[in-house]
Amino acid sequence: MNYALRKRILVTGGAGFLGSHLCERLLADGHDVLCLDNFFTGTKDNIAHLLDNPYFELMRHDVTFPLYVEVDEIFNLACPASPIHYQFDPVQTTKTSVHGAINMLGLAKRVKAKIFQASTSEVYGDPAIHPQPEHYWGNVNPIGPRSCYDEGKRCAETLFFDYRRQHDLRIKVARIFNTYGPRMHPNDGRVVSNFIVQALRNAPITLYGDGTQTRSFCYVDDLIEGFVRLMDSPDDLTGPVNLGNPGEFTMIELAEAVKALTGSRSELVHEPLPQDDPRQRQPDIALARERLGWAPKVALREGLRPTIDYFDQLLRERD
Ligand code: NAD
Ligand code: UDP
Ligand code: UDP
Repeated sequence: MNYALRKRILVTGGAGFLGSHLCERLLADGHDVLCLDNFFTGTKDNIAHLLDNPYFELMRHDVTFPLYVEVDEIFNLACPASPIHYQFDPVQTTKTSVHGAINMLGLAKRVKAKIFQASTSEVYGDPAIHPQPEHYWGNVNPIGPRSCYDEGKRCAETLFFDYRRQHDLRIKVARIFNTYGPRMHPNDGRVVSNFIVQALRNAPITLYGDGTQTRSFCYVDDLIEGFVRLMDSPDDLTGPVNLGNPGEFTMIELAEAVKALTGSRSELVHEPLPQDDPRQRQPDIALARERLGWAPKVALREGLRPTIDYFDQLLRERD
């Protein structure tokens, strides 16, 4: 690519599920990528295929500590994302979101980089309005088991907007809704990975509660396209911008789809619903459609196929 167009881009959490797909995409677009990760939930397996690329650099570092590098753009993704992982060490989860945001914003301020924050639909908590537009302030329990993640991410958003107001930083805040695809962690307890692994093993598929709660699932390639469009959008578009697939499914529907696609003999069983589990969640993506010309293209069944193939291969290697 034209040297003048090549950007030096930092991806924190780059060895994770979303981060590894983002690094791949940025390299394919001709950029110079610095992938930073402390390998808490991410793994070198996710980015091993990129290590031979001279424009890819891997750095072991924890975002809660300062970082001095020279870059043009920062994608701040570092943070455990599944309830099992973020509740393992909740204080560290808050530190990662809050101290991590402060350090990355401080870095962006010093080098005048544009900075993107991977926020989450969890900032809406257990939403009282449906679907959720960006101007909805949310319904979050500040002292529950999910709050280290939810409130950490909310505080990170606050910091992004204060750095913009106080220091005129160019910020981009994406509120990501449930995303799935290859390189999801097989043991992260999230519903898509759980159901697929259970189905492939013909083990019982665990529906928490009665299974009528809903989620909207976005395929990873669609989401990454949204990330890139948001980062490249005009400076006045700070977000927050919802990125997700509005197709809404109950957990029973998801279980049936996974069963059909895997040809599994698994039975569906019910287990207790975790505390503060949101009843329903669906993104309102009108803003992303209008300002980014973005909408997801991959239907659930279409995206489940490569995801199932990924887990099938992984389980064969492990078993
Ligand atoms: P992931 O766990 O696969 O990736 C997170 C990465 O961050 C991992 O590689 C992990 O090792 C790294 N990390 C964690 N703490 C760190 C620290 N202190 N310093 C450096 N690295 C650290 O999760 P993911 O699904 O790829 O999520 C990426 C981002 O997107 C997260 O910020 C998450 O909150 C956000 N997000 C994801 C989803 C989703 O459905 N996947 C939904 C909403 C928001
Ligand atoms: N920081 C960093 N890299 C940089 C510049 C700053 O990690 O290149 C960290 C620094 O440790 C500081 C934080 O970012 O704690 C916030 O920086 P800022 O300049 O906003 O605040 P201050 O240094 O005045 O506390
Ligand atoms: N869930 C389920 N069985 C599982 C794992 C999760 O029924 O084995 C439910 C969970 O209670 C929640 C939904 O699936 O209602 C999505 O859970 P996940 O942890 O994937 O995402 P989040 O709750 O953070 O949206």
